[in-house]
Amino acid sequence: MPLSPEQEAEITEQRSAPQQTLRAVSEGMEGHLYTAYPVLDHGFIRVVDYMGDDAAICQAARVSYGKGTKSVQNDEGLIRYLMRHWHSTPFEMCEIKLHVKLPVFVARQWIRHRTANVNEYSARYSILDREFYIPAPEHLNAQSVINNQGRGEALEGEEADRVLRYLREDAMRCYDHYEEMISQDGQQGLARELARMNLPANIYTQWYWKVDLHNLLHFLRLRADSHAQYEIRVYADEICKVVADWVPFAYRAFEDYRMGGATLSSTALDCLRRMLKGESVTQENSGMSKGEWREFEGVLNDPA
Ligand SMILES: Cc1cc2nc3c(=O)[nH]c(=O)nc-3n(C[C@H](O)[C@H](O)[C@H](O)COP(=O)(O)OP(=O)(O)OC[C@H]3O[C@@H](n4cnc5c(N)ncnc54)[C@H](O)[C@@H]3O)c2cc1C
Repeated sequence: MPLSPEQEAEITEQRSAPQQTLRAVSEGMEGHLYTAYPVLDHGFIRVVDYMGDDAAICQAARVSYGKGTKSVQNDEGLIRYLMRHWHSTPFEMCEIKLHVKLPVFVARQWIRHRTANVNEYSARYSILDREFYIPAPEHLNAQSVINNQGRGEALEGEEADRVLRYLREDAMRCYDHYEEMISQDGQQGLARELARMNLPANIYTQWYWKVDLHNLLHFLRLRADSHAQYEIRVYADEICKVVADWVPFAYRAFEDYRMGGATLSSTALDCLRRMLKGESVTQENSGMSKGEWREFEGVLNDPA
């Protein structure tokens, strides 16, 4: 349960007080506003605020006085054109502010995306909760043998039980010591800013994260991708669902050109042209390294 009953009540109260506005409103996003969507065992994402919609992207692109819309089809066509030609600034006119609860080791990957505004829960000021990410058994995987930066099959049997036990017991022991060190019961009590260094990286933190749509799509391109670590990918996947309802035209163009599309080098394009002419092209005569060829084949092969 990621939210306490008090927090749920606060959110319900906020949702029950709509206000009139002249600003652009995305009906799809209004349905998501404030709702916390669970991610991992104790985490969540929830939209705290947003600005703009598909029309706002077109309005900015046309530098228009009014809605900037000639027709809905025109809008979608324009957004697809902008996405296709990397005309990115109109997408920066939309913003989203998220409240995210996530394990610290996921936060370390997330914070590398520098083009956002962040305010994190202060573990100098406040006491962290006893909440740790413990992977579900199917996500407790062995080291991958083909990719140093990945995982393979799920651990099994006694090894899986032992690893889960270590993760739980180590987290609890560290937290017990954290609590004992900061306690002012019969002792001075260690400063919170120091005691926290004893806590493992699977403890949960929280932040407000505000980003424009262009940089959010860049984040999603990298983190909703199959190469991203599962624990950050599930957050990105959940955000994707929200974005799909917020700016459906922009999201469809993003899925088509970025998530589903591919970039080819001039060497790869040359190989493709030779193949279309009926030439037998192999890695040896392609001019590509083995790695490049493998990835090229991956692009050409039907993913199904
Ligand atoms: C699968 C995967 C594996 C990774 N592995 C590692 C790893 O092993 N080690 C590691 O350290 N990181 C790793 N990263 C992190 C990665 O290198 C990037 O730091 C991260 O994805 C953020 O990307 P970004 O800089 O494009 O995003 P943002 O910081 O959001 O920046 C967006 C864009 O803005 C521009 N920009 C932002 N700031 C600057 C700047 N100061 N100067 C110039 N241009 C700027 C760039 O064009 C950038 O692409 C990995 C990421 C992924 C997705």
